[in-house]
Amino acid sequence: MNRLQSGKMSTPTPVSKAEVKEEVCIVCSQKKQTGLYIWGHFICRQCEKEMVETKVEDQKYKYFIEQMRKIWLQDHSR
Ligand SMILES: [Zn+2]
Repeated sequence: MNRLQSGKMSTPTPVSKAEVKEEVCIVCSQKKQTGLYIWGHFICRQCEKEMVETKVEDQKYKYFIEQMRKIWLQDHSR
């Protein structure tokens, strides 16, 4: 059996902690590290949570939708 020597990949930088970078949330415009991407735009963890918890009849919900719509129009206005 010809086994390859594992654990000696040619990657000098550790991947785990170097990946932390800040993104600007498109809803609250704050720099956050954790969140998700919708249509390539960053939404922070907090806003995502808020969006999920906000009821449809809430004023805030409208605001969220409006923000999303703007982004969508930005990306598809051509
Ligand atoms: Zn946010």
